[in-house]
Amino acid sequence: MTERIVAAGYKAFRAKQVMDWLYKKRVEDWDAMSNLPKDFRGWLAENYIIYPVRPILDKRSDDVTQKMLMELEDKSLIETVLIRAPKKGVGQEDSRKTVCVSIQVGCAYGCKFCASGLAGFRRNLLAAEVVAQLMHICRREEEQEGGNEHRTSNVEHSTSNGGGESQMSKQAQERPAFDNIVFMGMGEPLANYDALVRTIRILNADWGLNFGARRITVSTSGLAPQIEQLAEEGVAVRLAISLHGATNAVRDQIMPINKRYPLEKLLPAVKAFQQKHGRMLTLEFILIEDVNDSLEQARELAKIARNLHAHVNCIPYNTVEGLPWKRPSIPRQDAFVDILKKAKVSVTIRREKGHDINAACGQLRLKTEEAAAES
Ligand code: SAH
Ligand code: SF4
Repeated sequence: MTERIVAAGYKAFRAKQVMDWLYKKRVEDWDAMSNLPKDFRGWLAENYIIYPVRPILDKRSDDVTQKMLMELEDKSLIETVLIRAPKKGVGQEDSRKTVCVSIQVGCAYGCKFCASGLAGFRRNLLAAEVVAQLMHICRREEEQEGGNEHRTSNVEHSTSNGGGESQMSKQAQERPAFDNIVFMGMGEPLANYDALVRTIRILNADWGLNFGARRITVSTSGLAPQIEQLAEEGVAVRLAISLHGATNAVRDQIMPINKRYPLEKLLPAVKAFQQKHGRMLTLEFILIEDVNDSLEQARELAKIARNLHAHVNCIPYNTVEGLPWKRPSIPRQDAFVDILKKAKVSVTIRREKGHDINAACGQLRLKTEEAAAES
C-alpha cells in the first residue's frame, strides 16, 4: 500500500495512518479517517473498498453459536460463525470466542458428508474478503460489549491520566474481540493457498490485527504438497487434518481427495509439519454411523495419532438434509473414544454446538440459495 500511495503522489507515512484506522480503530468509512487530507480520502475511496463483505443474516442458536451469512460484492454468499465456549464457573460474558471463517465460495473437493461441497465450487475468496469477515465480527462484538468494558478489565491499569487516550484504552482497542480463529468454514484453505498465507500475515502483523499464529487453526482435507509448503512458510499456525477415515478403504468412500493423496502420501506430509512445528496438530474425525465408527477404525486411528503425537477431536456427524448419513448413538461414540483413551491418545469429543441453526459447514448458505431458487 505504501508503494501505491507514494506512486500516486502522497506521503509514505499515510499508509501507516490508514492501517491504524482500519485495523486498530476499525472504522468502515473513509470520511471517518479524520487526520487524512480530504483529497487523499477521495483517492482511497476511488481505489479501495473497505470490508468487501456485507452481513445479510445473523442467526443465534440456543447454545451460543452465532452464524452469519455474508454477501460478497458479486452477490456470492459465504458463512462466518462465532462460537462462544463459556469458561468453567464463569458467566457467558467471559466466554472464549472462536471465529470460524470461510475461504472459498463452495468447495471443489466434494466430501460425501459435507454441505459445502454439495453445490460445487464457485470461486476463491480474496484475502480481503477473509479479513473482512473477521473485522465484521470484531466491530459487532465491540459494539455489543459497549466500549470494551470487559476486555479492558484484563489490561493492567497504568496511573490514571484523566482525559485523552491512555495507553490502556489503546491496547484494549487494538486487541481483537475474539480469542481464536479457525479456517473451518466453507472451502478448502490449502486450495486457496496464497490468500490463506496473505490473510495470516495480515492477522499477525503489528500494523494489522496483531493476532498470534498459534491462535489460528487451518483445517484441511489433506492436500499433501501444500501441507509441506505450509510447514516451510514461516507461519506457525496450528494444523487440523480432516481425517475421517483411518484406512484408505474407509477414507476413499467419503473423501475423493484420498484417491489423489492416500494415507501413505498424506501422513508423511503431516509428520513433516509436526516435526517442524512441535505439537500443534489435531486429527478431526467425524463419527458417521456404519461408515467409520467401528472399533477397528478406532484402533487404526489410535496408531496414526500416536505416531504423529496428534490430538484427536471426534465430532458426532451433523446431519445434512438430502444426505443419507447419521451420527452413531452415544454409547457407540463412547466405545470409540474409549479405545483411543486406552491407547493413551489425547482425545476429545465435541458435544456439538449450533445443531439447530444449520451449523454444519455450508448448510446455511445451501438452504438460503435453495429458498432463493424456489421463490
Ligand atoms: N475444507 C477444510 C475446512 C472446512 S470443513 C476441511 O475439510 O478440513 C471444516 C470441518 O467441518 C472439516 O473437518 C469437515 O470435515 C467438517 N464437516 C463438514 N461437514 C460436516 C458435518 N456435516 N458434520 C460435522 N462436521 C462436518
Ligand atoms: Fe470441502 Fe472441507 Fe467440505 Fe470436504 S469437508 S467438501 S474439503 S469444505
